[in-house]
Amino acid sequence: MMIEPIQQCHQTGAIMSHVLAVIGAAVVLFPSNIFGEETVDVTRGLVQVHEVARVVPRLPEMPPASAVCFSSRWSHPINRDDPHDTFAAAEAFHATDFVWTYSLDPKFVQRLRQSGERVFLAVNSLIPDPPDFRRRSKGRIVDLLGQPVTAPWMRSWPDSAWGCANSPEYREGFIEYAVRAIQAGATALQMDDPRMNLAAVSWGACFCPHCIEGFRAFLIDRVSQETATAWGITDLDRFDYRQYLLERKASVGDAFAKYDGGELKSLFAEFQKESVRQFFSYVRGEIDRRAGRHIVFSTNNYRGSWEFPYDLFEIGMAELPQRDATPQQLYDRYREAHDRGKHQIFTLVPQTADGSEVPITRRVIAACYALGGHLIVPWDVYTGSQKPRYYGRPEDYAELYRFVREFAHCFDGYEEAAFVFEDRPDERYPLAPPLLIGIPQVMGVVRARPQQAAAPVVIHLVDWRDEPSPFAIRLHRRRFPLTAFEHVWFSCPGHPPREISPREASDEELVLEIPTLRPWGLVVLGAARPLPE
Ligand SMILES: [Zn+2]
Repeated sequence: MMIEPIQQCHQTGAIMSHVLAVIGAAVVLFPSNIFGEETVDVTRGLVQVHEVARVVPRLPEMPPASAVCFSSRWSHPINRDDPHDTFAAAEAFHATDFVWTYSLDPKFVQRLRQSGERVFLAVNSLIPDPPDFRRRSKGRIVDLLGQPVTAPWMRSWPDSAWGCANSPEYREGFIEYAVRAIQAGATALQMDDPRMNLAAVSWGACFCPHCIEGFRAFLIDRVSQETATAWGITDLDRFDYRQYLLERKASVGDAFAKYDGGELKSLFAEFQKESVRQFFSYVRGEIDRRAGRHIVFSTNNYRGSWEFPYDLFEIGMAELPQRDATPQQLYDRYREAHDRGKHQIFTLVPQTADGSEVPITRRVIAACYALGGHLIVPWDVYTGSQKPRYYGRPEDYAELYRFVREFAHCFDGYEEAAFVFEDRPDERYPLAPPLLIGIPQVMGVVRARPQQAAAPVVIHLVDWRDEPSPFAIRLHRRRFPLTAFEHVWFSCPGHPPREISPREASDEELVLEIPTLRPWGLVVLGAARPLPE
């Protein structure tokens, strides 16, 4: 067992010494089982990063890892006073894919298609009435008094009533709108506010005739007449929950959230959750049927959450509040999406717009790409219901996106294999982690091509300090393929790549000196050239 690898070894002295080192480690360490859960192959040593990286199948609708996602929520300029121009800004930021755009205008959408690869047109919970989609009066969510209801953050908007998932009229309008978006040229659709009727329970809704009828059928399936009688329902077959609540002087509107409606109210919330599930099942089936293909949906899964109903959609495309924009949170969000076979795209909602948001935004752009995701270009960003939208300047952010495009070959096809930030251990490496960073507040992500031992390995480094300075990283030799250290390249935005020499710290460890990052740098291991020819 111990002899075999040496007999197989007929190449270089480097391989021989590597194997001998491995055997030494295996002989000494294996009996004491200090490898914990980790699989150790004694013929080759520790599991290597390209073996840890796992592929998540990518839908063709999903922007590739090297894409620059750009969202012009509407076509700009909106009028003669609008200083913003969709296409000029997209070009300045090196956009490749247009996402989360509200438009049914085939001319505008075709121009987006000509300027980029994919177009995600947006739908939401307040699709206006067909055929002209100008007003919102049909099939709306209503409160106990029959008044139309909207989300708290939309109350200052005119004509903003949400549509009811149980209304056949609203369903048809939603399908019609989505089909028009696809006919206009959408690659996929983005669903904003997918919680619909489930969210509306907290706002004292929906008690429209369709919901009353649906809830009656829902109860008949689940509750005996005896139970119903105990709740004061004399005839379940003629039960009207709205009437029942009015008779009991239940709280109207937002106050309904705190109204003690007992088990019956819990069942109502459950019914509305089911209504949302059935809504998407029905409308998506119809949209696919009418489009003649499966239409991929992304959703605004706020903060990257995958709880219901976000789990109904293939891609997360979410607002990320600045307080959640930390390396740890981003890693956890991306890891969960990856584990679920989903993909996540974020848009950062900055707390300020006076220039102080630029450093954090730059770090989040770098961190999202380092983790295999995207941060939508910070331009035309919603920042709050009464606040102006945020338009970041190309001079603050474009070089980061240009960097991604220049080094696209270091992004596409790569998967996360190790994560380092502060003292959090990476449970995939109970000992001898592949990467150690000498100082806290620098985030490191090792990315590799899964199962490809001959492919270069990429290490992303993102400095989260307000005053960055040079630092060192340590690499554990045996976590990387043998060819990884033949050439080591360092690249950062705005500077040409250069070859750097690792220093041997021990038989096992190499040290690399990293210059000041503002905030992002890439170390590429094992590539003969830094850029493709
Ligand atoms: Zn309803």
